[in-house]
Parts: sequence; structure tokens; C-alpha cells
Amino acid sequence: MHPLTTDLEDHAYLLSLFKKTGALLEGHFQLTSGLHSSRYLQCALVLQYPEHAESVGSALARRFSDHQIEAVVAPAIGGIIVAHETARALCVRALFTEREGDLMTLRRGFQLNQGERVLVVEDVVTTGGSTRETIEAVTRAGGLVVGAGSMVDRSGGAAQVGVPRESLLTLEVPAYHPSECPLCNDGTPAIKPGSRKQ
Ligand SMILES: [Zn+2]
Repeated sequence: MHPLTTDLEDHAYLLSLFKKTGALLEGHFQLTSGLHSSRYLQCALVLQYPEHAESVGSALARRFSDHQIEAVVAPAIGGIIVAHETARALCVRALFTEREGDLMTLRRGFQLNQGERVLVVEDVVTTGGSTRETIEAVTRAGGLVVGAGSMVDRSGGAAQVGVPRESLLTLEVPAYHPSECPLCNDGTPAIKPGSRKQ
């Protein structure tokens, strides 16, 4: 576990973890959304190391240590390990939501007590959409969401989710429609990271 204690140290430490594990790639990428970007983040490559996952969880837990969190909830799949490690550091339960049709919901018999104080976490916030959907699922289940956290904020701090939000690493990652992509204009082909198809 890393012994760092300030937000700035979190940022530098997590950035070093992303680079060390090959989880932050620089180049010309086609994202799942179809947009092109010069940076690609794959949090799973950091989280595959339990000691790094533990550091991420303890750093997020510290940001919310005075919020009397009683449970941590994340959207599956990307948020599950983040929730687990954050919950471990806070000594509370870790739950996750899944899609049932179009609706994000708690399944598997997961339940929240009425008014239970919940922290929602995920790996990457881009628009905040899946955090907001998870907050709605927790609220429908009777929980009270008191904060939201992520390993990475790709919105440069812009995403709003309706509760106080913390991110360990805030990055501005511009994404372009292929027709307007400056990297395409340079003539290099975009690659799809994490996929065998190029
Ligand atoms: Zn491009």
C-alpha cells in the first residue's frame, strides 16, 4: 500500500502506476464509442495487481473517510474491483449493479437498508453517465448516495453526477469524430487497443 496522503500525491502515484503497467497508451486509438483519441486508458491493467488495487481503494476511501460510508456500490464490470478495495479500506460491504435490459439495478439478492449511506465508485468517469445510473439504482433500492469516486476522471473535472465527486487522477482526454480527427489527417491508422482486430 502506498503511504501517500495528499491529492497531488495520489495523482502522481496513479499516473506512475498507469504508465508502469501499460494502462495509459499514447498514440492514435479508436475507442469503443467509435471516436478517435491520442490517449487510451485501461484501468484493468492497473487493477490486475492486487497491491495496486489496494492502493487505489485506500486512496479513494481516504477521500470519503469523514462521510460515514456504510456501503460501496459500483457498476459492473469495471467498477467491481474498485468498489471491493475501497470497501475493504472502509470496513464496509461492496456491492455492484448490473444492467437488466436497459435498467441498471442491484441483482443477486444485493440489498441496501433504508437510508444506508452509500459511496458509488467506478474506474473511469467520462461523462458520468454510468455513475448517475448507479446512483439511481441505489436510490431506488432505498440507499442514500453521499458521494462518488473514480480512479480516473477523463472529463477534466467537468462531469456532474449530483453528489460530491472525487477522482484520483484527472485527465483531459480529447476524443474526435474520425472525420475531424487530426491524427487521421496525419495519415497514421487508428488502432483498437485491447482487441485482436486492428
Ligand atoms: Zn483518427
